[in-house]
Amino acid sequence: MPISCVHLAPLEAELERRGVKIGEPTPSPYGPEWGLWSEVNCTFDAGALRKRLGLPDFIRFEEYDGRIAGSDATFYCPRCRRALMGRHPAYAGPTTPRLS
Ligand SMILES: [Zn+2]
Repeated sequence: MPISCVHLAPLEAELERRGVKIGEPTPSPYGPEWGLWSEVNCTFDAGALRKRLGLPDFIRFEEYDGRIAGSDATFYCPRCRRALMGRHPAYAGPTTPRLS
């Protein structure tokens, strides 16, 4: 069983391969209607990953820069309301792994 959902499972496998820990699913920072999100400490090259891993078209990727309010770069599955929430590249440290 994937931690997020079956549609995001290929991304989970890639995170595991890179040694990036997948956080426990917790309610989305944008409200409970967005389901359960798992934090991951990495950044995403979304276009490259989507293509290479064959993620379904309905999986959304969004970068949010709220500055002091927080930031993230997240793959979201609207069917299951699950997400893998990565770091916004503008705030990630130099040692943060980048998946591409
Ligand atoms: Zn899903």
